[in-house]
Amino acid sequence: MRLVMLGPPGAGKGTQARLLEARLNSPQVASGDLLREAVRKRTALGIEAKDYMDRGVLVPDELVLKLINERLSQADAHGGFILDGFPRTVEQAETLARMLEKRGETLDKAVAIIVPDEEIIKRISGRRTCRSCGAMYHMIYDPPRNMNLCNSCNGELYQRDDDAEDTVRMRLEVYAASTRPLLEHYERLNLLALIEGIGRPEEIEGRILVALGRLPAGDGTSNAAGARSKTGAQSKN
Ligand code: AMP
Repeated sequence: MRLVMLGPPGAGKGTQARLLEARLNSPQVASGDLLREAVRKRTALGIEAKDYMDRGVLVPDELVLKLINERLSQADAHGGFILDGFPRTVEQAETLARMLEKRGETLDKAVAIIVPDEEIIKRISGRRTCRSCGAMYHMIYDPPRNMNLCNSCNGELYQRDDDAEDTVRMRLEVYAASTRPLLEHYERLNLLALIEGIGRPEEIEGRILVALGRLPAGDGTSNAAGARSKTGAQSKN
């Protein structure tokens, strides 16, 4: 399947993309992870991107597109992928559509996870990420067994620079101005699935699988309807 995950920072796109990766046998492709890797490796692209990321604003398209194009050209992404954090603007979505068209591919669905801003700020300020494997924890809702160590690989947990509260507020503003219009864009293309993002990760995954037609309709559909009224978008899914 070829999926795009949408939603504000901290909505749970990464968590859901990782769950779906195993379920759909398609790799998660996270633009933020690709950028952070470039920053860590101190590549020219990473050095240029870092300042934008630290401020919580969007990195210029040409940098992000280069990373995404390279990643989607790798063999494991040929059968499908779960894009997380890309596209973030209507322009990026149009570029993605052209990129896929050249390969004779199309998107199957854009999954938007809906979570209110105040909940996002609570979630992100407690968030910790593993330096080695990228696993995420929350110091209150989903704490690691050992204070600062990852349960799976024992890597060090850290707070991302851009997870500080002021930067989170800036990222939410950028989301509202640049990324939220994507919901309308994918709605017009009849690809949008709106998912209520409050609940346990497995519940939210269930709602997504219902929207993708991989599970029979159940609880997920009524929650998606609730999400719809909060965004004003009129999903048919
Ligand atoms: P994320 O991990 O998705 O929250 O992304 C972290 C930061 O990376 C964002 O605040 C942006 O500065 C940058 N970034 C990630 N994806 C994109 C994108 N598609 N376009 C522009 N900047 C991006």
